[in-house]
Amino acid sequence: MPTTEYVFNPRTTDVLIKQPLGAKLPVVDHAKGVYIHAKDGRDYLDGSGGAMTVSIGHGVREVLDAMRAQAERVCFTYRSHFTSDAAEALAQALVDLAPEGLTHAFFVNSGSEATELALRTAQQYWRDRGRPGKTHVLGRAISYHGMTMGALSMSGHDARRADYGNLLHTFAVAPPPYPYRFPLSGADAEGHGAMVWDRILREYGADKVAAIIVEPVVGAAGGALAPPVGYLRALREICDRHDVLLISDEVITGMGRTGTWFACAQDGIAPDMIATGKGMTSGYTPMGAVLFHERIIQAFGDNGKTVPFGHTFSANPLSAATCLAVVNYMRDHKVLDNVAPRAAQLEAGLRRLAARLPWMADVRGRGLLWGFEFVTDPEKKTPPDPALNANVRFTAHCMRAGLIVYTAGIAPLNNATLIAPPLVITEMEMDDLLARLEKGLLSFGAEMGYAMGY
Ligand code: PMP
Repeated sequence: MPTTEYVFNPRTTDVLIKQPLGAKLPVVDHAKGVYIHAKDGRDYLDGSGGAMTVSIGHGVREVLDAMRAQAERVCFTYRSHFTSDAAEALAQALVDLAPEGLTHAFFVNSGSEATELALRTAQQYWRDRGRPGKTHVLGRAISYHGMTMGALSMSGHDARRADYGNLLHTFAVAPPPYPYRFPLSGADAEGHGAMVWDRILREYGADKVAAIIVEPVVGAAGGALAPPVGYLRALREICDRHDVLLISDEVITGMGRTGTWFACAQDGIAPDMIATGKGMTSGYTPMGAVLFHERIIQAFGDNGKTVPFGHTFSANPLSAATCLAVVNYMRDHKVLDNVAPRAAQLEAGLRRLAARLPWMADVRGRGLLWGFEFVTDPEKKTPPDPALNANVRFTAHCMRAGLIVYTAGIAPLNNATLIAPPLVITEMEMDDLLARLEKGLLSFGAEMGYAMGY
């Protein structure tokens, strides 16, 4: 039986671990590369890049120099008073990296603000086109698009929605791309499961729907649920057929996480909007963005309008210069070339562990975004008792083993984990990650009383 006690809000995965009197979270001292050093002298391998955010590692000199240089020139001017060299260059750099057709960028300060802006823009687009009834933005069950009310309205995350039900919109949701637990209902010939959207739009009424929002690979809510390439292509066609915009939420998957600058490029499609954040600045400062397809901008232009509202810190020169420095670093050091070999190493390591541990199931992912989940009976795919919060317990075991992982998978399963190290991780560091992970898995398994294939 588990012995550690936990204090938690049972509906969220944000948990305080009850530790011996006075013990708290480790206090960070400094970080370099993929390692974070705490004041207690311990080091932690940043196996999830924080919240899937740190892409080029901590303490990169080129980025720090660019930040200092920008700070010495100017940190803040308001976006409707001034633009800046950094913001202009960054907008150009991002649209150059995005699929063809995405021609404009608008900057915000977080992923939630980005998806929220995409929601407002979708509604404005149809209003301006004389179809004001098209206001709903549909997403999928087991998804997460942010904690602001519009973003949460689009999120299939029951635990995070629970306390705010009366303030949220209840848009329809489609099944998640999660073949391990959900049959691919509505699967098309290639088994992508995207065809279910066609039926939903017909039954729900596409005349109510402004847009569909999906994460190309579901991150925090599901633990790297990765539909095969082809899903987004099928969805793009369905959206076009029904006059519905497509928003690709690339807050996690953007900026190289899955091996290309944006994951939707792997399907060879251009969404109407890409929301991004997190890895944009590799965590050096907060920043998010929405990239717009030319047709959206055209609609604004036709009506003499612009993007529907930003934020005080939108496009602040310091974050813009930081993001630009990160993009330049990734280009100069060919960081994306590192993703495929390290992803193969990580996948092989995870599969090796799962082969020995019958309770480590459904290793899945793409690029450097991988997940797995725990089951007590591999045949029946029974999750551990949700009340035990297996994923949170496991995270604590990893911390003790010196590895940061991300607690993913939402209630009622509470059983998934994300591994998403910085994209610059070396072969040796990946071996270290896998060794620490094994340590965390073994001590977790021992606490839970699970069988070990060792
Ligand atoms: N979209 C996705 C796919 C995310 O994973 C997140 C954050 N986990 C968000 C949006 C919200 O981003 P933020 O926390 O920066 O507001």
